[in-house]
Amino acid sequence: MPNYAIGIDLGGTKILTGLVNKGNGEVLFSIKQKTGKEKDAESIVEKIKLSIRELLENSKFDIAQIDSIGIGAPGQVDREKGILISAPNLNCENLNLKALMEREFYIPTFLGNDVEIATLGEMKYGAGKGFSDFVCIFVGTGIGSGIAQNGQVRYGATGTAGEIGHIIVDAGGRPCGCGANGCLEAYASRTAIEARIMGALKKGRSSVITEFMRDDKAISSKMIRKALEHKDELITQILFEASDYLSNGLATIINFYNPELIVMGGGLIDAVDEFYQRTITKAKAKALPVPASKIQFKKAQLGDFSGVVGACFLENTQKLKKTSNV
Ligand SMILES: [Zn+2]
Repeated sequence: MPNYAIGIDLGGTKILTGLVNKGNGEVLFSIKQKTGKEKDAESIVEKIKLSIRELLENSKFDIAQIDSIGIGAPGQVDREKGILISAPNLNCENLNLKALMEREFYIPTFLGNDVEIATLGEMKYGAGKGFSDFVCIFVGTGIGSGIAQNGQVRYGATGTAGEIGHIIVDAGGRPCGCGANGCLEAYASRTAIEARIMGALKKGRSSVITEFMRDDKAISSKMIRKALEHKDELITQILFEASDYLSNGLATIINFYNPELIVMGGGLIDAVDEFYQRTITKAKAKALPVPASKIQFKKAQLGDFSGVVGACFLENTQKLKKTSNV
């Protein structure tokens, strides 16, 4: 019998909500909402509730057909209590999402973080299907990673395992949002790459990318790909530098964790294959020969929906976790 759940990927800029058939991972209906500039706990909660109501209305599903609601949030969470402890990008602190949703919809609700749900999605129905030890790395605003181990996501002692974005790749280097210097995400995240490009353009370096940019000056992954295809000197230099740093991070994971597989996701990885290929080739060359001989790389397969699908399985992993702790 099919069972259905609602998965919510709560991001810094958007809320993606989907109704998922847990039996095959199919997203039957989905709604995307912008979080808006003026963020606060109350408006975020209202938007989540609205998404769920709309989803049920559009899909003509009865609330009784929904097993669970899973929410992945960009921040620190208390999984047991279902509390979003802190999410600076959303201006939220100590928000009991579990209680708020259960009071509203009478459906068991589970909370995890954004990278955890994306990893769960790839584990169940994406690139990680059939693998028991693998790591997912998402290159975006920051660089996050999820560690999959025997069908579960590894949380660590404080629930923060996998913070690959903050391994230090350049002692005393560029400042990072976390307060330290020289963190990987200050070199190889989308944000860092964009900042490098904008900084160089401001200093008067020329690049073909300016021909693709519109008035809002935002740089998309597609623009970066086009500039690379044009063999643009500036973009090639900045991308290759970021790729070198990212491959250092990957080599560290290969040596330290010895995974079977590394799954990579995010807009830049999806759109710029040359960046992805170069990075994994360098990582294999830098890692120790034995773990490097077995490592496989794959791109994430569920795209925008890895988090939505994965959020529907938070219930299982958290219940399992609880039983194993008893
Ligand atoms: Zn950092």
